[in-house]
Amino acid sequence: MSQQGYVAAPPYSQAQPGMGGYQGGFGAGPAQPLYGHYGGPPQAFNAPCLTCVAPGPMQSPPPPISSVAQQPFQTSPPPAMGQPQMPPGPQSPHMSPPQSPQANMHMAGPPMAGQSMAGPPMAGQSMAGPPMAGQSMAGPPMAGQSMAGPPMAGQSMAGPPMAGQSMAGPPMAGQSMAGPPMAGQSMAGPPMAGQSMAGPPMAGQSMAGPPMAGMGRPFPGPPPPGPGGFQQPGQFGGQMAGPQLGMPGAFPGAAAGMAGPPQKKLDPDSIPSTTQVIEDDQAKRGGQVFSTNMRGQAPPLVTTDFTVEDQGNASPRFMRCTTYALPCTADLAKQCQVPLATIIKPFASLPNNETPLYVVNHGETGPIRCNRCKAYMCPYMQFIEGGRRFQCGFCSCVNEVPVFYFQHLDHMGRRVDFYERPELSRGSYEFAATMDYCKNNKPPNPPAYIFMIDVSYSNIKSGLVKLICDELKTLLEDLPREDGTESSAIKVGFVTYNKVLHFYNVKSALAQPQMMVVSDTAEMFVPLLDGFLVNYQESKAVIYNLLDQIPDMFADTNESETVFAPVIQAGVEAFKAAECSGKLFIFHSSMPTAEAPGKLKNRDDKKLVNTDKEKTLFQPQKGVYEQLSKDCVAQGCCVDLFLFPSQYVDLATMADVPSHTGGSVYKYNNFQLETDGEHFLRDLRKDVEKSIGFDAIMRVRTSTGFRATDFFGAIHMNNTTDIEMAAVDCDKAVTVELKHDDTLSEETGALMQCALLYTTIGGQRRLRIHNLSLNCSSQLSELYKSCETDSLINFFAKSAYRAILNQPLKNVREILVNQTAHMLACYRKNCASPSAASQLILPDAMKVFPVYMNSLMKTAPLVGSTELSTDDRAHQRLSVMGMGVEDTQLLLYPRLIPLHNLDVGSEALPAPLRCSEERLIDSGIFLLENGHSMFLWLGQASPPDFIQNLFNLPSLAHMQGLMCALPELDNPLSKRIRSIISGLLEKRPNSMKLQIVRQKDKPEMVFRQFLVEDKGLHGGASYMDFLCYVHREIRQLLT
Ligand SMILES: [Zn+2]
Repeated sequence: MSQQGYVAAPPYSQAQPGMGGYQGGFGAGPAQPLYGHYGGPPQAFNAPCLTCVAPGPMQSPPPPISSVAQQPFQTSPPPAMGQPQMPPGPQSPHMSPPQSPQANMHMAGPPMAGQSMAGPPMAGQSMAGPPMAGQSMAGPPMAGQSMAGPPMAGQSMAGPPMAGQSMAGPPMAGQSMAGPPMAGQSMAGPPMAGQSMAGPPMAGQSMAGPPMAGMGRPFPGPPPPGPGGFQQPGQFGGQMAGPQLGMPGAFPGAAAGMAGPPQKKLDPDSIPSTTQVIEDDQAKRGGQVFSTNMRGQAPPLVTTDFTVEDQGNASPRFMRCTTYALPCTADLAKQCQVPLATIIKPFASLPNNETPLYVVNHGETGPIRCNRCKAYMCPYMQFIEGGRRFQCGFCSCVNEVPVFYFQHLDHMGRRVDFYERPELSRGSYEFAATMDYCKNNKPPNPPAYIFMIDVSYSNIKSGLVKLICDELKTLLEDLPREDGTESSAIKVGFVTYNKVLHFYNVKSALAQPQMMVVSDTAEMFVPLLDGFLVNYQESKAVIYNLLDQIPDMFADTNESETVFAPVIQAGVEAFKAAECSGKLFIFHSSMPTAEAPGKLKNRDDKKLVNTDKEKTLFQPQKGVYEQLSKDCVAQGCCVDLFLFPSQYVDLATMADVPSHTGGSVYKYNNFQLETDGEHFLRDLRKDVEKSIGFDAIMRVRTSTGFRATDFFGAIHMNNTTDIEMAAVDCDKAVTVELKHDDTLSEETGALMQCALLYTTIGGQRRLRIHNLSLNCSSQLSELYKSCETDSLINFFAKSAYRAILNQPLKNVREILVNQTAHMLACYRKNCASPSAASQLILPDAMKVFPVYMNSLMKTAPLVGSTELSTDDRAHQRLSVMGMGVEDTQLLLYPRLIPLHNLDVGSEALPAPLRCSEERLIDSGIFLLENGHSMFLWLGQASPPDFIQNLFNLPSLAHMQGLMCALPELDNPLSKRIRSIISGLLEKRPNSMKLQIVRQKDKPEMVFRQFLVEDKGLHGGASYMDFLCYVHREIRQLLT
């Protein structure tokens, strides 16, 4: 490569006529010739489709693709890299951890025998009919009863017992009913037949079903004029004065040729392949140990199997960056427009062969910190003056070493206890927190889980309520627990609701659970404290009893209206009263239309799609839910929402609280027990058993010269620095954008420390610390060499998905395309060797960036199609906000696995293919998954023996209707394929419903939208067309 001595021409970043100009001084190019290694081989891709496009306004469509020659994609071996190294640590440092390792928080205990059976029947108890209210009711009904005083803990109930209280068994003398209802609150039994009923909500459903064949459409019309001004990287703040781009899902200035007559096809193998990149990295780095002793070392790809050895920097499982070499100056950063960000997954699961985090205890005074910047003791603190002081790596402040912490230095200036102290030698570890880190200077109580089940008509009728109740009996045995403890410290509570809320007393001393009803949903409170949140093991019999009774109790309900905000409010109040944090599991079916706070109405309006008002479809309704989010975060109340809608529910609003409290939203459209039951239960099990921390607050500290400026995730920000999370589980990630405030030094690099204060599932207060050091360079080539496409696309997805809350989609799409072109043009200009303009030169580390970017723009939230359900779009938008790098990678580039040539004797998964129709063959069978959807695609000419072995059917033609599972057949092929599927389900954070589609059947269209290299079903270009378009943009930028 003849790159040395290449002198940059005058910066292209100056205003160009006809381009709307580059505003805001992206800075002059390098003042000096760029010398030295330029890292990864530039990827030359001859983009022939553009060779005859005259530079100029974008009205001119590209010429037919057939007019051009092809040239294979070129690669050359990377030159040697010279990276600064930290002194390498020993291969296996002998650590003597101060305490036992803490991590694997969910140690699922073995299920107990007989668990799935109903609890022991009580003597004299009649299980038929609504048992609670209907059972011998001693005393007058409670409704309207006037009870003085607010509900208070420990208050003993004067007056007659509640419905059900004096049921089977001896009277509960001296029973303490915490908190009687307030005056005017009606305490009613469960809904009785004959209650005013709004009929079952079946009529007029708008089916958010799959798009039908023929819905996909070509790009309409000729392309509009080119884009207007560029924006700063990653900023979607202002309105862009761009041209009007009315095309759904189209990138700005989409090539009109695409809708034209069939073109001679280019060899798709000539453009960079994601599957190849993944395979190559696996071949090169798979199975190896990645030691984190080196600053700025880019880890293997997220898709590669590797082992991490923590030697002073956080594992890439916890922190990944868009680049591992930050540009030294803000000018350089502006010039390249490559977003600088780190994606932090503080509770990431570690494989069994990696060491869990050690817990460090610095005693009563708490963790040692820098006096000035408050950074915690870490490998970046330098001990000086014989060990009496340490200089902070973040702010350079010199601090005294406390006497108890003093240690001598060895001849290299390193403390002699270096390897015995995780906080000196490791990238990630935990500190035991002192009272100073606890609310009200009191140690926290263990968290609680409240299960809140919507028992309105549709959930009862679908069998969902019974399914949940049955499952909870076994599931609760698997609540997460601290290492070394016998049972989970997590307390559990139960609520059912429709228009009113039913609370249950499941105190272990009771023979029967007791129900209390709160129908005044405007002023929600919890009518009992003692007995509401209980230890599952202690109260197991009563809980079994309750879970057996709930489905029967509401079996005859006609109530179809529900409340929602009061349900969350009730959960928060319960946690407040119990002084704990925790999680609400809400199982809900419909839009909350009952008269209560947070009542919603249908505001879905497809006419807004592709208008400037489309953003309102994504915006939550303000008011009640906004305040609820704040209340939840303040109390450490995480909300997980399991939705079972049959029509629009205003998901954007209903999911607002979950998406600000570290929660998850699961959605099962038109839930049917047979086809969706197992899918839902897998999600529920994974969710309940997840390792998780509560009542968390996270801060990212940086060394001088740059700082964290923006944050994306299922989080709440009260100020500009503290990331508040009611809970954070092993799958949630926060994406943090970094900006310069000064020049960074190549010598010292850039340091980051993420500190997460949280409450463990056992109720301990802890600080989890992740440290990461990056390189800094005044040469852009270093930055491009150290980029990570998977992290970049995570950042772009989250920033774009946030931007659509405030901006027209077309502007957001435009910014994405422009920034893509700009990043690549800057590389071409400053880092690549001179070559013909017709060649598209991509940085090695970003060579498949365009396919991800194009896929992102075709996702439901960004595509702007009236054929997509508003709730589905809002759901995907919110789900992505909390995702880590693995999840966004898989979502935007699904795995397409050929199964027809499967070697049933091999454990290896067949190599995935590129996601394009080109790769499908009539005689083939393929599995496709993206972490959220899973398909088994059967070609028309699938081998009959294959079909026989898999389905026990003589041919495809015998297949009836939609299938969602493979029969369990006793032959090697069936076993192997089912094991591949269950292996994938095991690996992903979410469950996936298997959809079996036959080639050319209608449902195949749903499958096809996941072939992301092809033209989008709802708009959006093919990968090839997008690449050609981007190339043209780059050429314009370079003119
Ligand atoms: Zn400091």
